[in-house]
Amino acid sequence: MHQTGYFVGEDCIGCKLCYSVCPQKCIDISKKPVVINQNNCLHCGNCAEICPNQCIEKRN
Ligand code: SF4
Ligand code: SF4
Repeated sequence: MHQTGYFVGEDCIGCKLCYSVCPQKCIDISKKPVVINQNNCLHCGNCAEICPNQCIEKRN
């Protein structure tokens, strides 16, 4: 099954900038790549916008 939402790719360097702008604080930064908790994500796109590595991908 194809899952929609924002997903973090392998290029993540663990800078935590995505977490800093996430209104839900639903990104697990104890892992690398960091992991977005899909159940709490609002699909606001803040994380993808700020990621310096552009490694957060939106899947429709
Ligand atoms: S899309 Fe928004 S709510 Fe979802 S993980 Fe990114 S910053 Fe957080
Ligand atoms: S902003 Fe991008 S590179 Fe930085 S921790 Fe988040 S996903 Fe990883």
